[in-house]
Amino acid sequence: MNKKQKRVLYRIIASLLLLIGCSFLEVDGILQFCIYLVPYFIIGYDVLQKAVYGIKNKQVFDENFLMAIATVGALALKDYREAVAVMLFYQIGELFQSIAIGKSRQNISALMDIRPDYANIEIDGKLVKVDPSEVETGSIITVTSGEKIPIDGVVVSGMASLNNSSLTGESILVEVKENDEVFSGGINVDGLLRIRTTKLFEDSTVNKILDMVENASSLKSKSEDFISKFARYYTPIVCYCALFLAFGIPLINLIVTKDSQFSSWLYRALTFLVISCPCALVISIPLSFFAGIGGASSQGILIKGSNYLETLSKVNCLVLDKTGTLTKGVFEVDSIHHNPVEQQQVLMYAAYGEHFSNHPIAASIKKAYGKEIDDKLISDYKEIAGKGVSCQVDKKKLLVGNDKLMELNDIEYVPCHHIGTVVHVALDGEYLGHILIKDQIKEDSKKAIDQLHKIGVNKIVMLTGDRDNAAKEVAQKLGIDEVHSQLLPNEKVKALEKILLQKDPNKMVGFVGDGINDAPVLTRADVGISMGALGADAAIEASDVVLMDDNLLKIVKAIKISKKCLGIVKQNIAFAIGVKVLCLILTAIGLASMWLGIFADVGVMIIAVINAIRALYVKNL
Ligand code: ADP
Ligand code: MG
Repeated sequence: MNKKQKRVLYRIIASLLLLIGCSFLEVDGILQFCIYLVPYFIIGYDVLQKAVYGIKNKQVFDENFLMAIATVGALALKDYREAVAVMLFYQIGELFQSIAIGKSRQNISALMDIRPDYANIEIDGKLVKVDPSEVETGSIITVTSGEKIPIDGVVVSGMASLNNSSLTGESILVEVKENDEVFSGGINVDGLLRIRTTKLFEDSTVNKILDMVENASSLKSKSEDFISKFARYYTPIVCYCALFLAFGIPLINLIVTKDSQFSSWLYRALTFLVISCPCALVISIPLSFFAGIGGASSQGILIKGSNYLETLSKVNCLVLDKTGTLTKGVFEVDSIHHNPVEQQQVLMYAAYGEHFSNHPIAASIKKAYGKEIDDKLISDYKEIAGKGVSCQVDKKKLLVGNDKLMELNDIEYVPCHHIGTVVHVALDGEYLGHILIKDQIKEDSKKAIDQLHKIGVNKIVMLTGDRDNAAKEVAQKLGIDEVHSQLLPNEKVKALEKILLQKDPNKMVGFVGDGINDAPVLTRADVGISMGALGADAAIEASDVVLMDDNLLKIVKAIKISKKCLGIVKQNIAFAIGVKVLCLILTAIGLASMWLGIFADVGVMIIAVINAIRALYVKNL
């Protein structure tokens, strides 16, 4: 509990004791009134103050106003004990809520306890601790065992195991050595690393993640919008109803029966006001989303806003990219065919062509070649998305890519009849042969597709730029419902738009990609999900949900989390409105006392808040 909360607690205890004490005093009249005013002001002065401010600022209808009117009215009716009790329970509810919010904040910041406090840099041969934001790109920092990596970079010397669990939610140790890329937020478990930073702190992974989570609550979901609109109409309506109960009905009574029964109706009207307070909804709905987003981030699933959490829960069609998403994107060179020159030479040219490419295909070819590449020989490098690459090597025009690239350049090529991805190589208009490479399906892909089908995602579509036969083979093995292959990046967008046109208006379409030339599709889908985001900045920017590692089961988890969270939101809305409406009716017909009102109001709020906190616990979903 913080200081403010403690002060409220003391006020609650003090006024409770005074209230009990007062009820033993045998006094009445003005003296009794004055005595009860003491606990009343101790517990309620700030509510009264806020109500007065509200009236001055013309924002009349809030909960402070409701409480002030109800209690002043109760005092006027000489229901002193009720007046104090209403304030007392209102404050208990408020205190409870502020503790709950604090707790989930704490929980989230513990989950997000990845902000590094310092970086060790070497100045004049000595290690000095500095603020990570002061470290320039290209500096050498030292990370000893037990320390967090403060800034993204490359290892220049040393070896260590890293625990990236605060980023990915998976506690698997990753071994790193010289020349490996490391990301801020990982913890060095053993060993000593010297790292050359490749980014500023503000562009590093850790800072990006923190920014995202901190801003997530500013993007409101439809449910939250609904509640704030609801409160805007609801409170005034309730106030007018209460006014009618207090004055309208007695007036009618007076005309019809000559007996107005004013004080009994005023009492009902005041009870009505106490019950009507919409705080349970106003508080618990945003809290549920806040907790859901926090819970997800502890699992390595970053959701950029409540609205995306809501969209995710309605996804019934998921469109996936193949390479890097369903498959590992780690190709193995299988064989080299139709080559008039030495196989090793085909591979060498391919490797030169791919030298500057980040595509998974490029990585595999460079690995198979395995030798040093003299990048001074390469010029005019161009990557043609969905086709391949072209460049000048030693003043000769080199083309490395698929059938489309060959056709585009009028190269006579030999088509390949084997299953797999084909990379043709042509030098100065002459065909050098093709390399057949094969990708592997990720271990968890099949399981993930099955589970997605089970949780209501009934249409799973695969889009790929790869060849027909390679695509069909993967789709069949995984049980994918629909395949579109040989697509260029803009054709992927068109394919997605077609799917969006046919969708059920109440349902949502998600796209999952690895972020490599998927950005246009990611932004076009109802919810764009990118995976394996450690290190892929473009993907973090373009997508709405970021999965920190490339395990497909995370998508299943993300959808389950969203469903749980939205379930809680719906339960809270139904429960709170249900109980309130029931109590309001009971009050209007005179079956409820102000005591019931107090318990209904505070009780509903406490239950709704506890329910909301459940959204934080998602580990075993
Ligand atoms: P996917 O949709 O499977 O992720 P891309 O759109 O990235 O695939 O690429 C589609 C196709 O374009 C690849 O299957 C490959 O034939 C060709 N291609 C793209 N980039 C390269 C590259 N750097 N080198 C060779 N071929 C490439
Ligand atoms: Mg791709």
